[in-house]
Amino acid sequence: MSTVTLTFENPIAVITINNPPINATSHAVRNGIVDALDQIDANDDIRATILICEGKTFIAGADVNEFGQPPKSPILPDVIKRLEATTKPVIAAIHGHALGGGLEVALGCHYRIADSTAKLGLPEVNLGLIPGAGGTVRLPRLVPVSEAVSMTTSGKPISAAKANEIGLLDAITHGALGDAARDFAKTILNREIPKPLLLRDPVNAPNATEWDDISAATKKKARGQTAPLAAVSAIRNGIEQGPDAGLSFEREKFIELRDSDQSKALRHIFFAERSVAKLPELKGIDPNPLKQIGVIGGGIMGAGIATASLLAGYAVTIIERDEDACANGSTTVQKHLSGSLKRGLITQDRFDTLFAALSTSTDYGALSDADLVIEAVFEDMAVKHDVFGKLSEHCKPDAVLASNTSYLDINEIAANCTYPNRVLGLHFFSPAHIMKLLEVVRTEAADAQSLATAFDFARTLGKIAVPCRVCDGFIGNRIMSAYRKHCEYMLEDGALPHQIDAAMMEFGFPMGLFAMQDMAGLEISWATRKRLAPFRDPSERYVALGDYLCEMGRFGKKNGLGWYRYDENGKAQPDSDVDALVISESAKKGITRRNFTHPEIIDSILAAMRDEGDKILAEGIANSPDAIDVVMVNGYGFPRHKGGPMYLSRS
Ligand code: NAD
Repeated sequence: MSTVTLTFENPIAVITINNPPINATSHAVRNGIVDALDQIDANDDIRATILICEGKTFIAGADVNEFGQPPKSPILPDVIKRLEATTKPVIAAIHGHALGGGLEVALGCHYRIADSTAKLGLPEVNLGLIPGAGGTVRLPRLVPVSEAVSMTTSGKPISAAKANEIGLLDAITHGALGDAARDFAKTILNREIPKPLLLRDPVNAPNATEWDDISAATKKKARGQTAPLAAVSAIRNGIEQGPDAGLSFEREKFIELRDSDQSKALRHIFFAERSVAKLPELKGIDPNPLKQIGVIGGGIMGAGIATASLLAGYAVTIIERDEDACANGSTTVQKHLSGSLKRGLITQDRFDTLFAALSTSTDYGALSDADLVIEAVFEDMAVKHDVFGKLSEHCKPDAVLASNTSYLDINEIAANCTYPNRVLGLHFFSPAHIMKLLEVVRTEAADAQSLATAFDFARTLGKIAVPCRVCDGFIGNRIMSAYRKHCEYMLEDGALPHQIDAAMMEFGFPMGLFAMQDMAGLEISWATRKRLAPFRDPSERYVALGDYLCEMGRFGKKNGLGWYRYDENGKAQPDSDVDALVISESAKKGITRRNFTHPEIIDSILAAMRDEGDKILAEGIANSPDAIDVVMVNGYGFPRHKGGPMYLSRS
């Protein structure tokens, strides 16, 4: 089948796009649409046109292969103008996703109908861009301006139901889309052709004060990203200066953003996320089929991992130490699933089915059919050995056994198992059912089949899987430990915790290091430091401030005192007691404190990250600098629009 096909079913014409995998707006598609419209306009028997796609989705974006190449005529804005100018009404029939240029094409049509499961969005901001084919000018003339602002600045797609509610759709369909589109076409044959969006008035245009509020709220959310603000100014311009000036302004902004550092960084991380899990040595290796997942430990991580596995459609068994712990694990999973229900991500029926797929037991015999088991018990090697001993005894020989340990040596865990070749690490991030990142830790003995199974599992969970090898802290925690040490040095050398945090937030982190430590709780790392104290190199600089805080009973946000003092609303306030403690520690060590500027603080943090990243690469822990960037952006709040520490050090 060719990329664009035109069929006449008088009085209806059907334009079908077939450009797998996402029916991107490639040159052949753009050309095909224009050709088809010319033929339709010349055919007097035709009174309505359906634009529909083959495969899994409507047009879901641009062709990445055309990125960075000179534009080839007809360019998308002209194709959309051509759609608008056609003499017969065009109905966009949407299934799957209508994203970016795909939604802009739909906006050029005269009617839009969509399958009830479809999603529609303008995700350009995720790549540091704004819509470049009229989206910011047409959308606010179809839906309320506030909704257009929300879609373009968040980049998040909306459901067909929401799209219908705000007026983006003319109808929602169930069942075969082609049939529904033909039925819809028959209902409009005798209607007057609707006015193109460009000729319509904006819907509920804000006044000047409301625009100021919109800009201020967008700026706050954008945390340094320029594209969301550009989207607001493009929408405003299109409304205040009229559609023609709006289209030129949008195009200008689009080109300016496309060539910006932020867009380049965002494109880097976008492609890195998609390539990082592709290991050539696993090509062609079939993963084990997975049905039953075992999770050992129903605590914070275990319950999150169990929830993520249930949501991906697996049956899950949690093993705990006693019945009470089993009940706690099950209650936590229930709470997580209720969260998904409340947010409308699953229906009550789905909730019931998923929760019924969870079982708990204190008996490892319940795992005899498990295809993959993930251990998430206390961070203690003796406990891990005990658990893996039982797994070796009770699990079937081809079950893959994974540890969620944060720091422990998984090679050592594997060496004590009957089948070390099927032992590996699956390092989730908290909360495990929400955070996208997953470090897949390759042990020395892990075989290709087990690794392929782990990556396939990650894919079905919707995680971004990053391969890495065994070391203390793997990629992410190891880099965080390294830069934390440098932040602590800066405290003794002259900075204060809230200054370091302010510099990090100014750079784009959602939270500073010390506020983050307060949130996680200070006592766990204190316990680890005490445990490791006998093994510490006495010649290495050690900052004891975190220990002092714990000795003073300051365990972080949960008890209102940590690196900060927390007010009754849980808001962090710098604490003069902590400042005094930091200053007196410098004096005790004979250090003359000096001033640190924000750029100096950030340079020091970035240098620490890059140096540790270089070591991780040299040791073969990560297989590319991209892997490190993906981990830091998705697991540690590194600002996405800066591309990651390794990218930043190269650019
Ligand atoms: P947690 O204390 O909340 O949960 C541990 C659970 O394991 C408890 O419910 C406990 O009853 C159970 N357990 C202990 N021994 C057991 C045994 N022999 N058999 C069955 N169950 C047993 O701890 P957590 O925060 O969920 O951490 C679990 C693991 O995940 C640790 O290795 C930790 O380093 C790692 N991890 C934690 C985080 C995090 O942010 N909390 C992130 C990544 C990895």
